[in-house]
Amino acid sequence: QVKRSGKNAFRFFDPKLNTHHRERIALENDLHQALERGELELFYQPQISLSQQRVIGLEALLRWNHPQLGLVPPSSFIPVAEEVGLIGDISRWVLDTACAQLARWRRSGHTDVKLSINLSPHDFDHRDVVRSIVGCLSQHGLPAGQVELEITESMMMNDSAGVATKVRQLREAGIGVAIDDFGTGYSALAYLQKFPVSTLKIDRSFIRELDVALTNPIISAITGIARGFNLQIIAEGVERQEQADALRALGCDVMQGYLFARPGTAHEAEAWLRQVPSHSTH
Ligand code: C2E
Ligand code: MG
Ligand code: MG
Ligand code: MG
Repeated sequence: QVKRSGKNAFRFFDPKLNTHHRERIALENDLHQALERGELELFYQPQISLSQQRVIGLEALLRWNHPQLGLVPPSSFIPVAEEVGLIGDISRWVLDTACAQLARWRRSGHTDVKLSINLSPHDFDHRDVVRSIVGCLSQHGLPAGQVELEITESMMMNDSAGVATKVRQLREAGIGVAIDDFGTGYSALAYLQKFPVSTLKIDRSFIRELDVALTNPIISAITGIARGFNLQIIAEGVERQEQADALRALGCDVMQGYLFARPGTAHEAEAWLRQVPSHSTH
């Protein structure tokens, strides 16, 4: 590059930006090989029913064991994967790996645990997304009702890819569909009629607010919506016993968060399936 004077030239040579740019390119290159090298791993976080005092489900959360950088969180590489067109391959790997794991747990006697899998909005651009998901489940011999796919509110704002139809087809096949981070997007309630989802996951930003008050109008509204539409609710990011108690008083029974467990390996998850959670409500 030719050095030019002026504001743009100064920005171009900002060493911080430059480092960021170089890291980003390195990440992109490495990500291409991550799948082949077997560097991706699924962690699992339990979903607890307080009334049943047990783990009723697990959410699969993707990790990248980078040879130099260590464990890279999904927030740093999923957006890159989406931009460079690798997300399709990654999502297929996630789906297949999670389904294979659920099948293994079922064979070892955990026959009714549910599995939640996160999908990227880009996955719904493919016309055969429903067929490949249904195919994956049947290949692993899984009952459709034991798998739930997590999508985001933003996917429902623009239906150019026929997302509503695909959600309906998934639901007709018996597969669960959850709206992740519910309440943080801009979607209108009318969308819940068009997108027949099965579960709302209350975003952790609202749970955090339970620290200053024992009740929260948004959480009450979400539980009301869930009742009205006959949907399940899961509270995300429950870190403290007080929050769990407040949620229970608000009518929310199923929760996920560091209070119960941080996401762990498949091996750790297997141990959680065998035990009764030690945290109880008063
Ligand atoms: P998410 O689906 O909303 O997942 C919940 C995130 O909150 C996870 O972060 C989890 O580790 C974290 N979390 C759980 N309990 C607590 C808590 O009590 N306190 C706090 N502070 N955090 C908690 P993680 O694993 O880093 O994943 C971040 C996001 O990356 C996920 O948000 C999801 O949107 C995306 N993601 C994860 N795995 C996949 C995947 O396989 N495919 C796709 N497309 N996206 C994924
Ligand atoms: Mg999720
Ligand atoms: Mg979430
Ligand atoms: Mg999220």
